Amino acid sequence: MRITIDKDVCIGSGQCALTAPSVFTQDDDGFSALLPGREDGGGDPLVREAARACPVQAITTTEE
Ligand code: SF4
Repeated sequence: MRITIDKDVCIGSGQCALTAPSVFTQDDDGFSALLPGREDGGGDPLVREAARACPVQAITTTEE
């Protein structure tokens, strides 16, 4: 899986980090970021939930 965060769209609500804390975090400015080594989601099924939970659809996932 490839995870893309559109930082132009992200409003820093933190829903993704709350939903899938093993994959998403928030950077110093409060915007969503992927944890190091988790760029592929690490097989965590909560990644899709996090993408759905994002209020502005800033997260997209694609299967490779
Ligand atoms: S849930 Fe969406 S808007 Fe909120 S921090 Fe994550 S990517 Fe940004």
